Amino acid sequence: MEEKRHYFDVVVIGSGLAGLRASIEAVKVGSVAVLTKLYPTRSHSTAAQGGIGAALGNEEPDDPAWHTFDTVKGSDYLGDQDAIELMCYEAIPTVIELEHMGVPFSRTPEGKIAQRRFGGHTKHFGAEPVRRACYSADRTGHAVLFALFEQANRLGVRFFEECQVLDIVIEDNKVQGIIALELKSGILHIFEAKAVVVAVGGFGRLFKVTSNALASTGECLSMLFEQGVPLEDMEFFQFHPTGIYGLGILITEGARGEGGILINGLGERFMEKYAPTLKDLAPRDVVARAMLQEIREGRGINGKDYVYLDLRHIPREIIEKRLPEISSFCKIYLGIDPAEAPIPVAPTAHYAMGGIPTDIHGRVRADIGETFIEGLYSAGECACVSVHGANRLGCNSLLDTLVFGRQAGKHIVQNFKDLTKGSVPRARIERVKDMIKDFINRKGKERLSNLREELQEVMTTYCSVFRDEEGLKRAIESIRDLRERFKYISLRDSSLIFNQELLNAFELYHMFNLAEVIAQSALMRTESRGAHYRVDFPSRDDEAWLKHTFAFKRGEEIVFKYRPVMITKFTPQERKF
Ligand SMILES: Cc1cc2nc3c(=O)[nH]c(=O)nc-3n(C[C@H](O)[C@H](O)[C@H](O)COP(=O)(O)OP(=O)(O)OC[C@H]3O[C@@H](n4cnc5c(N)ncnc54)[C@H](O)[C@@H]3O)c2cc1C
Repeated sequence: MEEKRHYFDVVVIGSGLAGLRASIEAVKVGSVAVLTKLYPTRSHSTAAQGGIGAALGNEEPDDPAWHTFDTVKGSDYLGDQDAIELMCYEAIPTVIELEHMGVPFSRTPEGKIAQRRFGGHTKHFGAEPVRRACYSADRTGHAVLFALFEQANRLGVRFFEECQVLDIVIEDNKVQGIIALELKSGILHIFEAKAVVVAVGGFGRLFKVTSNALASTGECLSMLFEQGVPLEDMEFFQFHPTGIYGLGILITEGARGEGGILINGLGERFMEKYAPTLKDLAPRDVVARAMLQEIREGRGINGKDYVYLDLRHIPREIIEKRLPEISSFCKIYLGIDPAEAPIPVAPTAHYAMGGIPTDIHGRVRADIGETFIEGLYSAGECACVSVHGANRLGCNSLLDTLVFGRQAGKHIVQNFKDLTKGSVPRARIERVKDMIKDFINRKGKERLSNLREELQEVMTTYCSVFRDEEGLKRAIESIRDLRERFKYISLRDSSLIFNQELLNAFELYHMFNLAEVIAQSALMRTESRGAHYRVDFPSRDDEAWLKHTFAFKRGEEIVFKYRPVMITKFTPQERKF
């Protein structure tokens, strides 16, 4: 196999918003390479629709202190309040910076950045919904991603596209570099660096019905996990209430922000029962459970497993101006016009609250205390700072990617002199080559695609909105069984050039790890909090469980430690919406 060696001061894995924002900062001090397994602007961030949260107060009074409170409450009190406060106050300069970088935000009649309502965002500490989401129609992620990509290019960041990372090399508690396979050439690229920023996004593809892109598979988290790096709060996976029924394609919460409502098979606006103040704009965990409750009690549409999202009372001009993307999705995928017909929706796997544990500077934690892996940073959906705790509020993720992408970049800039150059040992390169050879040479009877579908089925059946001990134990058993069967795969393509199947094999190999961490973390947590709902333990238990899960791989086993939640201003209360 041909090898190419590179040295860059900083290597960023991922060209979503988090990776791009980190690279724009880090390029101030040294050379920066961004690797992505896609074309950079195809990163999942481009699919973000609804908006980015910031208490600009452009449409009505707002305050970052209210934003902080909403995020803490939305997180079911599991979010770290120092990090949340930082994010909500930084939100305002972050959005203004985006404006200066060229993001074409939608406007108010006076020409200010327009803002709309989003789930869980309120004024006066929970009194009523507030307009806080800044948006560019319903293509916000696309607008921001392109602006950042242009800026990164202008500043001299080097992009290595369609280059899939197969190993992140940590030796002696320091990140040394990465090893990646280039899709079009089959060349193995070895990058050595002072710092590596892991910004690889989410892993919704573990589930059967998801809003996430095909590339959201999470293999890099597992690469770290296999080397002893902990994974935090993995039991918390968000299901977005409004995925197009059967497909999972997202209908942004912005649709409810513009006045859309959910109705059941009896034509009732059922959210009034579950969240009398915020109704359809309650946080996502509350809305998703309420929908499934209606369905379970036989009040789905025609008794089936979906409800309707109704936009028919919203003037057509508003739908066309502010929600053009979802309007076209409805026409393409459902053959309906949302101004005239209700949209069939059901919860869809959407967002990982958990991930690679970091401090507020993006440094990756080596353990539950204040120890870090030298030179290793993480930001964006794959990281867990933790600002979202047990449940993320809508439009707080784009914000998180930008604020903490920049935090990571800034820390690299400030500590650049202390960072030492990495060196990737020969043995690690040979190990990756052996894995490639091994996958290509396996001659079993199992099909990769079947195993992946079975894994998604298991996760959807046992690890989604409702969970219990029996189901989680079954999930763990099935995941182990599938991992065993993976030994007997065979690939149809044995070349190194454009071998997407080989890359998918690497992804699936790692997805088993993530699936097992999710199921085991969920089994351990014998309470219900945010997105983690245990039918057999339906209440929140602050005395036993107001703490972050840290899962570690020790040989074939997963062991758990717990880290206290950082509470500064808001003591945990019962959540009412
Ligand atoms: C449909 C949809 C709508 C959303 N709408 C909103 C919204 O309105 N507001 C909001 O706040 N949030 C929203 N979210 C959530 C938010 O968009 C994401 O959480 C966020 O964009 C993630 O950004 P990121 O930079 O962390 O990763 P991503 O944008 O997912 O990028 C990940 C990058 O990592 C790269 N990568 C991954 N693995 C490898 C590897 N092995 N080798 C090389 N490269 C790799 C990929 O190529 C990609 O470049 C939405 C999410 C979805 C799915």
